Amino acid sequence: MTAVNYVGRFAPSPTGALHFGSLLAALASFLDARAQQGEWLLRIENLDPAREQPEAKAQFPFVLEAFGMFWDGPIVYQSDRLAFYEEALCKLSSHHLTYPCSCSRKEIQTRTHSGLYDRHCLLHGPTPHKRAGYRLQCSSGGICFTDRIQGTRCFDLSQESGDFILKRRDGLFAYQLAVVVDDHLQGITHVVRGSDLLTETPRQIQLQRYLGYQTPDYAHIPIASNATGQKLSKQTAATALDTKRPESQLIRALQHLDQAPPPELMSEKTSDIINWAIRNWRPQQIQRTERKAVF
Ligand code: GLU
Ligand code: ZN
Repeated sequence: MTAVNYVGRFAPSPTGALHFGSLLAALASFLDARAQQGEWLLRIENLDPAREQPEAKAQFPFVLEAFGMFWDGPIVYQSDRLAFYEEALCKLSSHHLTYPCSCSRKEIQTRTHSGLYDRHCLLHGPTPHKRAGYRLQCSSGGICFTDRIQGTRCFDLSQESGDFILKRRDGLFAYQLAVVVDDHLQGITHVVRGSDLLTETPRQIQLQRYLGYQTPDYAHIPIASNATGQKLSKQTAATALDTKRPESQLIRALQHLDQAPPPELMSEKTSDIINWAIRNWRPQQIQRTERKAVF
């Protein structure tokens, strides 16, 4: 048996039902993995209990199955993995790469107007007797990476985000830390996800470098927006995927991903559409630009 050298993943947050934008991320990551005989893992990013919708979370596996996408291994829940995030935070702290910060968002906004963190607590220490979170002390200079779809991108973290939060003042771990630790521990080699996360990537690469992790290959697919130009998301109340008619939504998703599904595929069943899409997956055809998903 040959060793699998491709491990991909779909990592939805259970803050609402899966919608057409989620389908694009799931489908592109699934097809990219399966077209290369890779593994495809499902990780539920439920770090924030207050924002979690239990019914949505319970539906995720059924929705993916209804759309013909089956994952490998057990489903991983971030809520079960807090000890790993704590360990990574300790490692960073032992290398003096973190510092406690007691600033509220409002305080930062008032001081800086931009919201970009001004290193107040690094320079002056956190306010005594006030709850503190932890920030990463970012290196100066740019972080460049080559995305398979978006091309080479360079970001200066001190201009983009400043020293960012790893653990919030309320004790919750930040997405940035958890995603990097899990991608590493799960052996993820390829990340395929929506281009709304492109600007998050340099922060993840910074963390990977500090923690001595490999950087996976990134491909950010164009996101879908609604008729008024807003990104389709749980926040903009995007319509939930309809598991009773996956076929037409799969065809639309393939069109959105520039895969040119032939007209006769419209009358095929879900598993045949998926098999066609795996056999004919051409990620190099995906255009960079964002486009509207009109229903
Ligand atoms: N959980 C994130 C989201 O639903 C995606 C994380 C990722 O793919 O890196 O937006
Ligand atoms: Zn602070």
